[in-house]
Amino acid sequence: PELSFDLYKAIPRKRPTKRPLRIALLTREPDNYSSKRLIEAAEARGHVIETIDTTRCYMRIGGVAPEIHYDGKVLPRFDAVIPRIGASVTSYGMAVLRQFKGTGAYCLNSADAIGRSRDKLLAHQILSQAQIRMPVTAFAASPKDTKDLVGLAGGTPLVVKLLESTQGRGVVLAETRKAGESLIDAFRGLNASFLVQEFVAEAAGSDLRCFVVGGKVVGGIKRTAAEGEFRSNLHRGGSAKSVRLTKAERDVARRAARELGLQVAGVDILQSSDGPKVLEVNSSPGLQGIETATGKDIATMMIMHLEAQVRPLAQLREGG
Ligand code: ADP
Repeated sequence: PELSFDLYKAIPRKRPTKRPLRIALLTREPDNYSSKRLIEAAEARGHVIETIDTTRCYMRIGGVAPEIHYDGKVLPRFDAVIPRIGASVTSYGMAVLRQFKGTGAYCLNSADAIGRSRDKLLAHQILSQAQIRMPVTAFAASPKDTKDLVGLAGGTPLVVKLLESTQGRGVVLAETRKAGESLIDAFRGLNASFLVQEFVAEAAGSDLRCFVVGGKVVGGIKRTAAEGEFRSNLHRGGSAKSVRLTKAERDVARRAARELGLQVAGVDILQSSDGPKVLEVNSSPGLQGIETATGKDIATMMIMHLEAQVRPLAQLREGG
């Protein structure tokens, strides 16, 4: 059989050591679909996987070696960590993840990459610097320039988004200038952070979710909004079906993940009349929608990617 070789030429990839990996699944939701599938996939491949609740980890920093404490004990060393850090605990989750990295664990998505994707302003700047197309977006901190902001986003119709929005909850369409300005003023009055964005009408209530693992697009779904709704979130009654992505769509998804430094990413794309535009890059993409619609075993692909990343390192450490 053909053997593929990695950086470390002496170590054939297809003949990994039999030593199972010790994996930590960092999540506060051990029972959700994604967690269950990752546990199932890791165990099916012979690994030992434990769920660790991010917020129950505590740390001593400044000692001789980095340690992570949990329920009164020091956690043993893990070969790898799969972070599934919720948006509400990003900052603490990143600290915990950095600590795991300090203990020598490989992180399937680094704390830095997660931080870049979670900071929408930063993510936009990085992607646009890399010439990755996005809907035109305006950000502001000052309470005075409402009119100008509408102009910068290309006039109306436009979309105003709360930065802490999830599941489409804080995403509002303003069809007229007056509505746009009132919305912006209202969000400002609430001291909320938001962005103003060009409305890509021709996407027609649909978006693409491209699932990227280790630089490859392993699956794609098209989400379509419910009747009378422009937000295609499944939580808003949208529906998902498997879709064959174009080369341009796969390329932009791969590039977006790479620019942010994500091994695993869910890249949301709008199909605009002049090509795919990246809406958002998610660093803990859920598995349920994509696996159900495509019938693909994405969880196993994630575990296999992890093996390929960790095993050459583990073998080197142990003297090959
Ligand atoms: P959230 O992170 O809360 O899900 P999104 O930015 O993903 O918010 O927006 C939710 C949905 O609204 C998207 O899936 C898409 O269908 C629609 N949408 C968002 N921004 C635009 C836009 N600029 N033009 C057209 N549709 C959009």
